[in-house]
Amino acid sequence: MSDYSVHEPMHAHLEMKLERTVKALQANRMDACWVRTKEEALAKVREMLPKGAVIASGGSMTLDECGITALLRSGDYDYLDRAAVKPEDIPALYRKSFGADFYLMSSNAVTEQGELYNVDGNGNRVAALIYGPDAVIVVAGANKIVPDIPAAIKRVRCLAAPVNAMRLHQDTPCTKTGICAGIKGELAAGCKANQRICCSYVVSGFQRQPKRIRVILVAENLGY
Ligand code: SF4
Repeated sequence: MSDYSVHEPMHAHLEMKLERTVKALQANRMDACWVRTKEEALAKVREMLPKGAVIASGGSMTLDECGITALLRSGDYDYLDRAAVKPEDIPALYRKSFGADFYLMSSNAVTEQGELYNVDGNGNRVAALIYGPDAVIVVAGANKIVPDIPAAIKRVRCLAAPVNAMRLHQDTPCTKTGICAGIKGELAAGCKANQRICCSYVVSGFQRQPKRIRVILVAENLGY
């Protein structure tokens, strides 16, 4: 359980940031709310998913930590689980994901201006975020919230991408240094490694389709 308490100034400050970010996401036509704990996030996701729904997801530590991946594997849903198929069948599963009722993922960063910032290697996750599944549910810890896009870019290069590359045992410069080789370059600057995990850079701002993207922010640190 979280030790969250609104009576402590740091938590009151966090609550203001969460409120500010939720309002900005809503102004960009995303459905958005915040909850205090990962247990509440799990309950919220369960409420949103009708039994039998076709669901796909991006690989996410946040979804694992909240118990959402386990929920998807409970048998209550038609979950397109990439962990349950052979490596050669994964491309077909990714294509099938575009027809899912729901796509679940986290976000590499969420800005206080109401934007999602995501960087992919394969691109299947950002592709599904942009188009395909009827609805996208994004669950993100408060540690993912940054003031603006420049801060989001920095967050990915200095933390999210290097740590994810380490988790996935990729042979990239950042797994040895802890920081992106392109830290001083433009948006897409980086390494030339075969296993580079940063290839497609997506900012989700104002949405043409209201509430297709539904963001649940959690007042805890989750994922990287
Ligand atoms: S571009 Fe390469 S070095 Fe930079 S964070 Fe991505 S994988 Fe690491």
